[in-house]
This record gives sequence, C-alpha cells and structure tokens, in this order.
Amino acid sequence: MANFTPQPSCADAHEANSLSVAQATQRITDLIAPIKGSETRSLRDALDYVLHDEIISPINVPPHNNSAMDGYAIHGSAIQSDKFTLTQIGIAFAGQPFAGNIQQGECIRIMTGAMMPEDCDTVIMQEHVEVNDVLITIHGQHQHGQNVRMAGEDLRTGEHVLDEGHKITPADLGLIASLGIAELNVKRKVRVAFFSTGDELRSIGDELEAGQIYDSNRYTLHGMLSHLNVDIIDMGVVPDQKQALREALQQASKQADMVLTTGGVSVGDADYVKEILEELGQVSFWKIAMKPGRPLAFGIINNALFFGLPGNPVSVMVTFYQFALPALQQLSGQDAPMQQRLQVNCVSPIRKRAGRFEFQRGILFQNDQGITQVKTTGEQGSGILRSMSIANCFILLEEQCDGIAANTTVTVQPFSGLI
Ligand code: AMP
Ligand code: MG
Repeated sequence: MANFTPQPSCADAHEANSLSVAQATQRITDLIAPIKGSETRSLRDALDYVLHDEIISPINVPPHNNSAMDGYAIHGSAIQSDKFTLTQIGIAFAGQPFAGNIQQGECIRIMTGAMMPEDCDTVIMQEHVEVNDVLITIHGQHQHGQNVRMAGEDLRTGEHVLDEGHKITPADLGLIASLGIAELNVKRKVRVAFFSTGDELRSIGDELEAGQIYDSNRYTLHGMLSHLNVDIIDMGVVPDQKQALREALQQASKQADMVLTTGGVSVGDADYVKEILEELGQVSFWKIAMKPGRPLAFGIINNALFFGLPGNPVSVMVTFYQFALPALQQLSGQDAPMQQRLQVNCVSPIRKRAGRFEFQRGILFQNDQGITQVKTTGEQGSGILRSMSIANCFILLEEQCDGIAANTTVTVQPFSGLI
C-alpha cells in the first residue's frame, strides 16, 4: 500500500498556501507587460482596437457658428420688448450658407445646422414668429445670442480628444469621423492559443463511449474570446500525456501572447499541467482561495502568459472572467476598464462556508415596484454549466462570509459589464 499523503481537495474550506483573489490579481498584474507593435487601420476597421497614439483635434468642431433651431437669424441688437418686425432677405440651409449682408431691420430664414451669417448672432425659433410674406413679426422674450452653436463648442483645434490606451467604441468612430480623421494608429491584436486537456473528451459529432463526455470548454472559451478583439488559435483536445502536453504547450507559447488550457491542474493522477509548466516555464501560483476555480495555474512559458484553467465548465468561465480577461485587457495595452459592481438586495438565502471567496451565479431582475434585485440560480456545482446560461451576474461573497439570510444587500458583478 502506498503512503497516503493528504492532498488539497475542493472539499477543504481553507488552505494555508492558497492566495486570496486580490493577491492572485496583484501577482498577475505585476507580471504583465503590454504587447508592443502597432498598425494603421482605416477608421471603421479600428472598432474595438486600442489606440497606440493619443488623438488631438485637427479642427474646430463644429467648424463654424451654426443655428441650433429652424427659425430666423437676426442680430441680437434688433431685439425689442414683446414684438418687433424684420424683413426676410434670404435663406440659409445646412451646407448652403447665405452669401449677402444683413442690414439693420433685416433677417434671414435659417435651418438647423446652417452656418450663421457674420452679421447675425441670435436665432428666433420659427414657433415664435408670425410670417406675412417677407415681413417677420417676432413675439415674446428673447435673449441676445440664443439658439446658436459656437465654432469649437464641442472640440477646439489642438484639443486633446482621446488617450493612448483607449479602446475604440462606436461613439468614438463618430467622434473621430467628426474630426475628419480617416486612419488610426492602433495596437496590434493579442494572440490567444487554447486547448482542452482530458482523455475523456470527445468532439461534437463523435459517438460517446463509456466514460467519455463532450468537450464543452473549448466552445465556451471560443465564445468568450470571440467577444474580444483578439486573434484566436484553437488547438483542439490534448490527451492526458506528459509528452503530448509538452509539445502542445511549446507550440502554443511560441505562437501566442497568452495560452489558456482547461483541465489537468488539480491533484489527480493524470493532472500534469502544473508539472509541465514548472518544467517548461515558471509557475507564479496555482491555488486561489475561491470557489469555483481553486486550482488555477498561472505562470509564463517562453514569452507567453499561461493560465491553466480548471476543468470544470463553470470554473473555466469564472476564472476566465476574473483573471484571464483582465490580464488580456492589460496585455493589449488597454486602460483598465471600470469594474462594474452593484449593491442590491438578494431575495434568496445563500449557504456558504467561510474560507473562500465565492462567485455564485445570480439573476438580476426587477421586482413589481421596478427595483433591481438579485436571486441565485440555485444549485451551484462547478459542473452545472446551465447555471451560467441562466445567470446574468456573479454574486460576490467575501472569504469570511459564512452565508446570508434572504433580503441581505450583496455585491454583484453584472455579466453585461464584463467585456
Ligand atoms: P480535471 O481538472 O481535468 O480533473 O477536470 C475536472 C472535471 O471537469 C472533470 O469532471 C472533467 O471531465 C471535466 N472537464 C474537463 N475538461 C472538460 C471539457 N473540456 N469539457 C467538459 N468538461 C470537462
Ligand atoms: Mg482532466
């Protein structure tokens, strides 16, 4: 009979050499240097890329004073109390300025966005006038300078618009287009290689034999990575054999900036990932006091960051979102996005033992009064992927929390804020 050495298992609530979630996050952050390399892309094709250079406005936006209303452009000095009449001598459309001069007692018809004539500085809304052929009678109280958008009111020439490290959003595409900029210098995409490990795994389309299961992790990872602007290298399934793992990890780490694997990081007899990581690269840590997702090997192989994610499908998603995603964002040179957290009332009681930080799956919903609350998805096993499908948030429970009663305020992390 072999000696029995107690090994850490998922059943332990607390374990001395596990890092806290915050410590693990800090270790990862400290190790990452953003990728180098940039490329020029046309504006539309720069969506979701990270700016390599800051953007400075080359022009005033708007480029000229223009009307904020459909109405009549006048000089403010013409305004008199209550009621006065001017003669309309022309018309200005957006894109078709009025060319002539406007003398005392005169005005022009003007449309929203049309350039203000030099002689005018005030616009009267058409709803406040009475029109009698070319005679325009203006009623009511009006202020000198009203209803005019000034040149450079949005952005001035030379003004700083967006920082290096900013990730381009749909709003930015419009903003940059308004500056007349056609091309951007952006950081290159991060390359991510991943594979599943496990002798029991079969691909969809294959018949399952006794003891086999379909590989789902590779599909979840494909989905999560596809929402990011990264190059994806899917390396398939690698069996639980040291040599096969060695070769796959070498190949992956030479092609990619980040390598992700699932499974084989625990303490089973066929879990070789951590051992091979130690052999080929450096292990930074491999245990975190969290649930799900305690065995998570993090380190470096060649020049690639390596995350050996756990095998259980929910653990894969939790550890990806909590650690690999922020690491990818940092690696891409992107400014750290704001962490979205909400404090809401949890209507379900939650059972938990103190000792590990838990990421329970929750559903944010609106009650009858329209107030946002959260409930758990129920059974929280790390193999129950359906809990992720029906969830729309994580309920974050601190290490020391030992369960909560119904109607307690909890912190949640909405999935919608994750990417
Ligand atoms: P492991 O960490 O390799 O022991 O895997 C933990 C559990 O997750 C086992 O029940 C595995 O069968 C399961 N598992 C591992 N990889 C996958 C995968 N790619 N798809 C679905 N389940 C998996
Ligand atoms: Mg395995």
